[in-house]
Amino acid sequence: MARGLLEFPEKGETVDAQTFPTNRVGSSVRHRGYATQPPLERFLSDCHAEFKSDNSGAVADYIPQLKQANPAHFGISLVTIDGHVYETGDSGVEFTIQSVSKAFVFALALELVGEERVAATIGVEPSGEAFNSIRLTNDNKPFNPMVNAGAIACSGLIHQVDGPAAFERVREKLSQFAGRELGVDDAVHASEAQTGNRNRAIAWLLRNYSVLDDNVDAVLDTYFRQCAILVTARDLAVMAATLANRGVNPLTGVKVITPHIVARTLSVMTSSGMYDYAGEWIYRVGIPAKSGVGGGIVAALPSQMGLGTFSPNLDSHGNSVRGLKVCEALSARFDLHMLNRSADVRTCIIADYDILGISSRRSRQPHEQQILDERHSDIRVIELRAPVAVAHLEPAASALTMPDMQRRTQRGTVVARGGLAIRFSHRRCAGATPART
Ligand code: GLN
Repeated sequence: MARGLLEFPEKGETVDAQTFPTNRVGSSVRHRGYATQPPLERFLSDCHAEFKSDNSGAVADYIPQLKQANPAHFGISLVTIDGHVYETGDSGVEFTIQSVSKAFVFALALELVGEERVAATIGVEPSGEAFNSIRLTNDNKPFNPMVNAGAIACSGLIHQVDGPAAFERVREKLSQFAGRELGVDDAVHASEAQTGNRNRAIAWLLRNYSVLDDNVDAVLDTYFRQCAILVTARDLAVMAATLANRGVNPLTGVKVITPHIVARTLSVMTSSGMYDYAGEWIYRVGIPAKSGVGGGIVAALPSQMGLGTFSPNLDSHGNSVRGLKVCEALSARFDLHMLNRSADVRTCIIADYDILGISSRRSRQPHEQQILDERHSDIRVIELRAPVAVAHLEPAASALTMPDMQRRTQRGTVVARGGLAIRFSHRRCAGATPART
């Protein structure tokens, strides 16, 4: 690769993520020869080769067992929403999920107790502080579910529903996101349970403001255990791809969570997923993400792909040094910043023609065919590219110059001229094709 991986592509050289190959559903490809590697896979190998020499940062040591982590470990995996798995390096090595779990447990809390109860308990404002900050909002709520206070409050909500089975519920949900049964690192769990006095302080503060009920120790244990769930970089990529795929795991096809909850989860990941680096992150990378002190990062780009990285050396914010670099490089190289989208509503019309010479599979009576042949120029076919978003309505409608009729009906907006009518279904707009009338 001629240019550094962290450099932006030159003008006109953008590789759009939509050009990801799509012909090997569910396949997993590892370390093939450079020349035969698909571009994305080659890019990940290049990232691995370039960033593995960066030994800056340090493994987390405030949970004693995490000091055992091997700082040389470095794994990257990327999963597209159509189920391609790309992986390189130590993508199959297990480590504890830690705070990456917060995004998925927040989704679970929303599913279990509903949006209103979650909103009454936890805010959604970035705290601008470290993940283990003991400060609450002015109305004594955790700032957001991506910092420890908010995550412990989430565990509290799940505990209110499931009692002692709360952890099992969490493990099952995360396993569905990952598409495999996830285990727990008992040594890390015990180590954090023994030394987690700061989290204990946070939990008791939450108890003081009635954010938690009486069972503080049980809630904390659910939280500590959730942080000790074992995942690989590949698991994280699948979990992120499930978010990117509107809640459906692209490998198992299981509908894990609703699209509505996915949008809420990605929102808090966007604003608060990288702790006090969140602003910088959204500015530079522009992909909803969440990191953990075990060295993992998940990043989910809606409708495209999920990324999982693992490298235990952390920077001062608690984010994996190499993982951060991979995300930055991927975003820059493939132009993935979510606010820099190229899909343009004006390109939704891909063809516009009358029906002269167009054959149809329907068999018609000779007199019908005669009418079509004679009146071919009265009939117009406009082909729209799917998915059609609400913003496409206007350009498509104005293609029908001076429509004879344009009215909203209960089922959608109908635009008609002469022999043509298109119904844009309101219900299915923002992700659906126009209905034929
Ligand atoms: N279990 C860790 C803690 O509560 C998780 C922190 C993190 O990954 N940022 O301190």
